[in-house]
Amino acid sequence: MVQNAEEIQTKNVNGKNKTYSIEFFQGAGAIICTYKGEKRNRENLNQVPYIERYGGKAVQIIGCLSLVLGIAILVGTVRIMNYLAELNFEESIYTSVFLTGLYPGIKICSIGNSLLWKAGYVKATRCKRCHRNYAYEEREEPDVKEISTEDSYAVTVTRHWRCKYCGHIDNSKSPEKIKAYKGLKEMKKVTGEVKCEKCGRTEFNFEYRNPDVKEDPFGTTVVETTTKYYKCNYCGNLNITEEETVYETTPWDFL
Ligand SMILES: [Zn+2]
Ligand SMILES: [Zn+2]
Repeated sequence: MVQNAEEIQTKNVNGKNKTYSIEFFQGAGAIICTYKGEKRNRENLNQVPYIERYGGKAVQIIGCLSLVLGIAILVGTVRIMNYLAELNFEESIYTSVFLTGLYPGIKICSIGNSLLWKAGYVKATRCKRCHRNYAYEEREEPDVKEISTEDSYAVTVTRHWRCKYCGHIDNSKSPEKIKAYKGLKEMKKVTGEVKCEKCGRTEFNFEYRNPDVKEDPFGTTVVETTTKYYKCNYCGNLNITEEETVYETTPWDFL
């Protein structure tokens, strides 16, 4: 890939000023954006049950079993409901079977999913030198790298750890729950909503390419960021806008 431009941009996203370094590549239309992310409070990860006594493998196995059990309950519920539907049972029976099967099924699945993720995180924060669990603390903001092309979008996070017991320093890719994917551009003309950062005009056609969507869940909240691309009709400058929304997770989110 041939790099043809590099820019430093500061943007105000939801009241926070963020500095991005953006590289543009010819050909594939790849844009690599790097910036500082946020440190995270991981106190609740210290509550992973039994991990100290039985180790990460055991928690992973329990996580897998919970997922399988949860899915089996969900599949079973659907089967029973089909059967009841064939027999024309009263609607109230139908609804109660649905609720008693669906809720525990989803709950057990999400416990399994959360255990698997936590086991992965505990592994990532175990010191590589002194081998203690929950040893790493973040010593500075992580480096986030986003690679966006016409039809792909990927996000990686490198966290800077320091072991609180032996002081070992480790910079490594961190397992995150980020979902990154391409959205679909809106097929309506952009009028007056976007201002060109170079020439100040507001003449744009449609979005230049499909937007990048990133869902970053942590604890009970999800931060969803949508990055959109607009090319100025007048000067050809590619303008990049970012929108951030925060919402609470629901039990469905593990799916
Ligand atoms: Zn250590
Ligand atoms: Zn312009």
